[in-house]
Amino acid sequence: MALLSVDAAQRRVAALAQGIAESETVSCAQAVGRVAARDVTAPVDLPPFDASAMDGYAVATSASAGIRRWRVVDTSAAGHPAIRSVDVDEAVRIFTGAVLPSGADAVVLQEDVAVTGDAVESAEPVLAGQHVRRRGQDVRRGGLLFAAGTPLTAYRLSWLAACGIREVEVTRRIRVALFSTGDELVPAGRPLERGQIYEANRFALGTLLRQKPVAVQDFGCVPDSLDATRAVVGEAARNADLIVASGGISVGDADFVKQAVAEAGSIDFWRVALKPGKPLAVGRVGNALFFGLPGNPVSSIVTYLLFVAPALDGLAGAAPALPLELPARLAVPIHHSKGRREYLRGVARVTAGGLLATVDGDQGSHRLATLARANCLVVVDEEAGHLAAGDAVRVLLLSGERDHPLAAGCADATSNLRSLSAG
Ligand code: AMP
Ligand code: MG
Repeated sequence: MALLSVDAAQRRVAALAQGIAESETVSCAQAVGRVAARDVTAPVDLPPFDASAMDGYAVATSASAGIRRWRVVDTSAAGHPAIRSVDVDEAVRIFTGAVLPSGADAVVLQEDVAVTGDAVESAEPVLAGQHVRRRGQDVRRGGLLFAAGTPLTAYRLSWLAACGIREVEVTRRIRVALFSTGDELVPAGRPLERGQIYEANRFALGTLLRQKPVAVQDFGCVPDSLDATRAVVGEAARNADLIVASGGISVGDADFVKQAVAEAGSIDFWRVALKPGKPLAVGRVGNALFFGLPGNPVSSIVTYLLFVAPALDGLAGAAPALPLELPARLAVPIHHSKGRREYLRGVARVTAGGLLATVDGDQGSHRLATLARANCLVVVDEEAGHLAAGDAVRVLLLSGERDHPLAAGCADATSNLRSLSAG
């Protein structure tokens, strides 16, 4: 079977990962990271009333062209509206967030008036609407806050809170079954015997998965036997929307995962023109979408980022979000033979000329050390040959890293960012 390109494989995954219809209502406090299952509309105008944006004096400009001296007749504080309305030559003492009294349409700043007894006077002309927060300026009652499919971030949920919304209908959690395979793998906390290594992938994948709206069922590490693999695939498919397996997907004698999946369901595609991560298998068992990720830890993480994470978005009903890619230049040459798209662990930093990326010489896909030091993946296209220092590439940012390229080495951050956006 010919290798599928990364782009084609991502399109296939997007087509396979259709949104789950079931939803549940959760409190907004529990909804971070979930996806809105329905359009969310505003139950009130926001702001709910014309309010003052500053401390000062509410006045009526409309009928009073040119008047700059007013008699103070009442007070409007936040939560305590004035009783009086204002007439042409009257003002109401007002504070930030307080209701604009009826008749008033502007606020004169307290620092811009001279107070004498119960009168205030402004040196400056007053403009209609100044320092007023208009009712419904953010959103009108019944207006759309978020469309179905919107991922709910802390900022978006804060807007719902400001509209007085306590609960939101979200896609139910995606049920993910996770297992790894390999007779050589040992959990942390146990001494290694000859030929054994500590298991990394179930930790890595479990941790990445839990950043998504999922409920993970961990099936542990499965021995390299066809029967054991069949059993876990069958068990996993019973409940899961998505099965994520690591290892055992290649063409070695101990690689049983693909066979077990093909028997119980189907393999949609296998092998992608990708490095690291060529032996990626995608298929279906019952209702569950299946991802067989390569066993080498870096490969399993890269294929998770490129294929599994966007599939989770799709299943949750959101647009699949691929990692952010930015243009960069190479600080070092890269040897690349045509055929597969390569993702190299790199360190990018902001310079006056834009992002500059460097990569480690040894990119073995078993070496988590290079990923642990990286803040980006340097993307080398399928058709590229050897690249020289200074050549243009794209970098895929590994989010949440302390030395994120947009934060790292930014003594001159402002001009650096300007050149970034200009480039
Ligand atoms: P496989 O895809 O099963 O042939 O595994 C490829 C390589 O990745 C082998 O060196 C395995 O020992 C290693 N490997 C497989 N699974 C894991 C895992 N969960 N943690 C760490 N290394 C693994
Ligand atoms: Mg194996």
